[in-house]
Amino acid sequence: MTAAASARQILLRLHEIMASRLHAQGKLDSVADIIGESLHSEVCSIYLLREGMLELFATRGLNKGAVHITRMAVGEGLTGTIAANVETLNLAEAKAHPDFKYRPETGEEKFHSFAGVPIVYRERAVGVLCVQHVEPRRYEEVEIEALQTTAMVLSELIANAGLIDEHDAAALGEGQIGMKTVSGLALVKGLAMGHAVYHQPRVTIDQVMAEDIEAERQRVYQAFDRMRGQIEQMASQAEFGVGGEHEEVLETYKMFAYDEGWSRRINEAIDSGLTAEAAIERVQQRTRMRMREIDDPLLADRMHDLEDLSNRLLRIVSGQLGTAATQGLRRDTILIARNLGPAELLEYDRRKLKGVILEEGSLTAHVVIVARAMGVPVLGRANGLRSLVCEGDEILLDADKGLATLRPTADIAGTFARRFARSRERQAAYAELRDVEPFTRCGTRIQVMMNAGLRDDMSALPLTGADGVGLFRTEFQFLVSATLPQRERQTRLYRDVLDAAGDKPVIFRTVDIGGDKAVPYLRSETSVHDENPAMGWRALRLALERGGLLKVQARALLEASAGRTLNVMFPMISEPWEFDAARAVFDDQLELLKRRKRQLPDAIRYGAMLEVPALAEMLDLLLPKIRFLSIGTNDLTQFLYAADRANPKLAERYDWLSHPILRFLRRIVQTTTGHDVDLGICGEMGGRRLDALALLGIGFRRLSITPAAVGPIKELVRRVDLKEVTAVMNDWLADPACDLRASLRAWADERGIETD
Ligand code: PEP
Ligand code: MG
Repeated sequence: MTAAASARQILLRLHEIMASRLHAQGKLDSVADIIGESLHSEVCSIYLLREGMLELFATRGLNKGAVHITRMAVGEGLTGTIAANVETLNLAEAKAHPDFKYRPETGEEKFHSFAGVPIVYRERAVGVLCVQHVEPRRYEEVEIEALQTTAMVLSELIANAGLIDEHDAAALGEGQIGMKTVSGLALVKGLAMGHAVYHQPRVTIDQVMAEDIEAERQRVYQAFDRMRGQIEQMASQAEFGVGGEHEEVLETYKMFAYDEGWSRRINEAIDSGLTAEAAIERVQQRTRMRMREIDDPLLADRMHDLEDLSNRLLRIVSGQLGTAATQGLRRDTILIARNLGPAELLEYDRRKLKGVILEEGSLTAHVVIVARAMGVPVLGRANGLRSLVCEGDEILLDADKGLATLRPTADIAGTFARRFARSRERQAAYAELRDVEPFTRCGTRIQVMMNAGLRDDMSALPLTGADGVGLFRTEFQFLVSATLPQRERQTRLYRDVLDAAGDKPVIFRTVDIGGDKAVPYLRSETSVHDENPAMGWRALRLALERGGLLKVQARALLEASAGRTLNVMFPMISEPWEFDAARAVFDDQLELLKRRKRQLPDAIRYGAMLEVPALAEMLDLLLPKIRFLSIGTNDLTQFLYAADRANPKLAERYDWLSHPILRFLRRIVQTTTGHDVDLGICGEMGGRRLDALALLGIGFRRLSITPAAVGPIKELVRRVDLKEVTAVMNDWLADPACDLRASLRAWADERGIETD
């Protein structure tokens, strides 16, 4: 008899039992008999979770007197281990296993071999099905599979019979793996508490046994077709807008989607009498089991891909489509995903989405740029996360420290909640500074502006009381669109932003795409495959050569600013002629609008970003042409130190508070003094209190920072005496041996200025 045929025999018999009028206990007893007989095992036992303990519910071969008497804690003995780890055990000699525990009331001493599988309901083990044999032998694969299939049927049976206590199942989740800490890379700092929600919810299988095998087969065929179509489409849309999958992953997806072995195994499972859903899950269980046995990280990665694909197939076949965003978040959520696209993140309700944990992700990933703008903490590179966390688990996300605590104990959760409350209190205190103008102690008004990039970000302007938007990253609209945004859409966005800003100024930066901020519709042209994309064909370099792009944006900005002041600056200028060339594009568009007798902006103020060190040597030529100069320290410092800002290995290596950077910046302050040019900083550096203190000390009077930092920086400004901090900074910068960060921190501490 083939494996499928024997599995089918078992399923047919189970089917009869399920359809019979027996009560639940009778059905469990019969199942134990059938499995014991079919696998020629002296013993077959079914343990179910009741009040937090695994209770022997049915047995063939053990002392019947032990039924409803023998109880094991989750994690105790072999049965408890299977439930705790949600994994299968197959042992020739049970006693040799370190977790073996002898229960005298069962009379099991004469049995040597043991195999057990978890009975899983909604990802949690709610029971265990096991067989024992006098002869010491490992069970064969087909036998283990028969057990697993039976466990699926049992899960349906006990769910229908109301034998699953939801509370027990949830509690087991905690007992199952207990508290766990996962570390990763802090992509967007911050604290958050909430419950795990999978971006792509796992599918629940309601029916395990097929009514009509042929119909199930057709359903799987169609699902495969659809899945292959989706993958082809993803590949054609490249890495963007569909989940941020990398090309490499797509390649693997393709390989598996067309893998005959996979579809054949699913078909065989259907032959044995399972529904399409149950067959896909069965095959996946088997793969998972194999994966556990092979300790190869490369293979494990590929298996994750297969797991993803298998879930996709399940979603298609079961019609349980859509992401957690489409289903709507019900409570405070920490979103779990392998990776996400920026557009996908934007679909979530910002009030409920408290944090994101990704297995992949990098600092410059689009989704991270968007999350930062949304103020949602993100932990990335959390390896193996999805095998550790279940839907609904409580999570404490500490993206400041790059950690997430899953299923925290009450103590840990309490400590975290207190820390979180303190940080929120601080935020609330900062919010009270909303209407307070940031004057230093010595009476100088400092401009504290905010950075933005999405329409939604503008709501932070009245909330923080920032002096305006010092950097509006127009490329965000390009990054979150699947196609190049048309001029009308750009105009609408810029107009909305200006409307939201009211009297406050907004400085629009023309697109900074290309390099690592690749967009699919310019993909073939951009330098995403450059060895050094940050130094590649990006920002103004690209915009000047793709004149159409800048022309459209210029026109959109000019039209949106009709009757108002337009502030516009160009990114990544390396030489003054680049500014001239960009300005010429605007002049041309202005002429065109004049000819067409359209309403023009009342005033246009042009500015430049200083991000490329070379430009610092040419400021005498540039300054007469511009009204403002904004230093992008994110890019500037990576070029000064020749240290890729996206490389996590270098993230902590060079300090912004170091002599080369601060001396360089101070020289720019000195060079611009006496010119009618507003000078400011718009990199992340300005949003950190200690760094901002140093910037004030070397002469900066305007900072544009992430909205969450506006309150803290305003508060800092009010504590500073500029003369004092300037004096110490000058002294320290003259002394190359001085540890600037440590000295400034000690100095601030002495004055009661908090610098965290
Ligand atoms: C910078 O480089 O400092 C900057 C503000 O621009 P971005 O971070 O968008 O490159
Ligand atoms: Mg930059």
